[in-house]
Amino acid sequence: MATSGVKSSRLGGLGQWWGVIAAALLVAAWINKAAGPVVVVSLSSLVLIWCFFQAPVTCGAPVRGREDGCRNNATGLLMGCHIRQHRWQKLKLLIVRRRVREFCTGLFSDGKETLVTLAAVGSFISGLAALIPGVIVH
Ligand SMILES: [Zn+2]
Repeated sequence: MATSGVKSSRLGGLGQWWGVIAAALLVAAWINKAAGPVVVVSLSSLVLIWCFFQAPVTCGAPVRGREDGCRNNATGLLMGCHIRQHRWQKLKLLIVRRRVREFCTGLFSDGKETLVTLAAVGSFISGLAALIPGVIVH
């Protein structure tokens, strides 16, 4: 019973937003063509990982009696908050229940979430573009 302690985020505040710095570096890498595809792909992967598993978004798991769902902070678009039932709720929705549309709606549930989703999409595209030879114009 004593082990059910809630992990408080040690990184709190700005530490959670390192993905934004990675995203800024990614944009810089695209502008400064000297960076090359390896740098772009690495930064894109970092930003994606951050969006999926680290970004400070809202949990949004369905909660009885609450229209907007759980308002706890979640870690990343694919993860829920610290409540055990919520932790894998989004992945379950997507993989087990195949509720893709419901999952996608959740990605745009508020401003923060939309921002992180767009960052994920952008970095995914930039990673792909960097992998396809000839897309980066020299
Ligand atoms: Zn939750």
